[in-house]
Amino acid sequence: MRDNPITPTIDFDRQGVQHGHLRLPYSRDDSAWGSIMIPITMVKNGEGPCALLTGGNHGDEYEGPLALTALAQELKAEQVCGTILLVPFMNQPAFAAGTRTSPIDQGNMNRAFPGLPDGTPTQKIADFFQRSLLPMADVVLDFHSGGRTLDFVPFAASHILDDKSQERRCRAARDAFNAPFSIDMREIDPLGMYDAAAEMQGKTFVTTELGGGGTATPRTISIARKGARNFLKHAGILEGQIDLAPTRSLTQPDDACFHFAEDSGLVDFKLALGDTVEAGQLLAHIWNTDHLGRPPQEIHAQRDGLLIARHHPGLIQPGDCLAVLAVETTA
Ligand SMILES: [Zn+2]
Repeated sequence: MRDNPITPTIDFDRQGVQHGHLRLPYSRDDSAWGSIMIPITMVKNGEGPCALLTGGNHGDEYEGPLALTALAQELKAEQVCGTILLVPFMNQPAFAAGTRTSPIDQGNMNRAFPGLPDGTPTQKIADFFQRSLLPMADVVLDFHSGGRTLDFVPFAASHILDDKSQERRCRAARDAFNAPFSIDMREIDPLGMYDAAAEMQGKTFVTTELGGGGTATPRTISIARKGARNFLKHAGILEGQIDLAPTRSLTQPDDACFHFAEDSGLVDFKLALGDTVEAGQLLAHIWNTDHLGRPPQEIHAQRDGLLIARHHPGLIQPGDCLAVLAVETTA
């Protein structure tokens, strides 16, 4: 396969703190020999494990970018044993535009893996992570939130994996992140995800959903900041005690957890995030905004559970994800 066109402006072998860029040539109308500049910070001190921490995989999710931008300023080499790579704005064009996908190629970074070295900008970035950054890492943390169209209870997640020892490693790192909720997450569309790419390379991988609505709150930012540090401490890379508070364990047993709208209209939730529901209970009405004489669509819970995610803006379209449930476990 051909070489990836991205040039890092930092030296991955050098000790100490380096702030630089992943420079991706991108020739365009306003910059003939221009580049996409993706900021990266590397902190390396001696030999030890390598952690790769990313935010901005989707450009309208802010807890990861905020936590990692602050961490890039705060980390000192002497606090570290091993290597920390921070990429707060993984899909930089999407992040700069404040959109989930890239405005250049409509690329969704989390559906672009394993990427292509001669593809679109999003595919080229994915290929660089696939073949250059992920192979360097032992542990990988990728921050997500709901973005502009979803809102979540704050959770850290790991996946059910075929390799049970890898699954245990991922779960232990997830629990060390110590979000208010910790979940064994089910994916509705895993093809092309960074998560799967990292897991297929055998990495200890943790992801999050920490809020949403296209913004971040002081509470969700502090969860992200504590979680990143706890994750690095758990990996033995950052010095200091892991800061643990109670977390509630969740699982998603089947696809009945996911509820999608079939009508467009004005969404009227009957439950708040974190509320418990029983199968058959009314989750939401979708009111018809074209004709006042039509009754609303009723969305009922397909199973018992706890509301972990909801559609965010007031208006909804057919096919939009309306509500996601998970089941609390006593573990
Ligand atoms: Zn996301």
